[in-house]
Amino acid sequence: MRLTIVGCAGSFPGPDSAASSYLLEAEHEDRTWRLVIDLGNGALGQLQRYCDPRDVDGFALSHLHPDHCIDMASWAVLSKYHPDGAYDEVPVYSPQGALEYLGWAGGPGGERGDTGVRFVEWDSAPVHELGPFRITSSRVDHPVPAYGMRIEVGDTVLAYSGDSGPVDVLVDLARDADLFLCEASFVESADNPPHLHLTGAEAGSIAARAGVRHLLVTHIPAWTDRDEVESDLATTWTGRYDLVGPGQTYEV
Ligand SMILES: [Zn+2]
Ligand SMILES: [Zn+2]
Repeated sequence: MRLTIVGCAGSFPGPDSAASSYLLEAEHEDRTWRLVIDLGNGALGQLQRYCDPRDVDGFALSHLHPDHCIDMASWAVLSKYHPDGAYDEVPVYSPQGALEYLGWAGGPGGERGDTGVRFVEWDSAPVHELGPFRITSSRVDHPVPAYGMRIEVGDTVLAYSGDSGPVDVLVDLARDADLFLCEASFVESADNPPHLHLTGAEAGSIAARAGVRHLLVTHIPAWTDRDEVESDLATTWTGRYDLVGPGQTYEV
């Protein structure tokens, strides 16, 4: 599988990156399959740098905060009105309430929330399969229903924290993962509210307990000092890691 960082700015789009979005590609039955994980503010624009959006096979939304899903409202316009014809409908794995929220985000008299997509609630099945992707999800610790994911392609595993406070289920999701895309929005020196986000030290601790091979730290907000996140991380993690940036790719 190949992971491309489409956007990685935490909480809101930054000057150098769209908000959260990750493109996962894998070969299966003689073609490339594409799963887009989250589509936060500005990500639909950046996604077009890395693939023809018509070639996206599905979306996996961690939760319904705007920095993870709001560009789905613009996907409705792109997929319905493209001059070469409307896109085929694609599945969107999502928390409950996506239809209502994204319909509202489409504006008064705008597109329905499910224009060009078919919502599949995470909790409707223990495992969701899309082409080569086998996706399991678990509720994580955030103020709205939010899900972490474990995506397997054969024996290869990508885990994604979504947004979450420190919680043991993240260790289970990331167990022995080849790539663990984990948020680190907070710094240890601040007085952080609980049940919201991780620090670099907490991300490193989870990755160490899970035995991940390569930790990809993401969702650092533009107002946060990346060096401080990195020094926090160094207190709990000695393995391979990157603080990701837009356009970076990882192949496993
Ligand atoms: Zn977020
Ligand atoms: Zn959030």
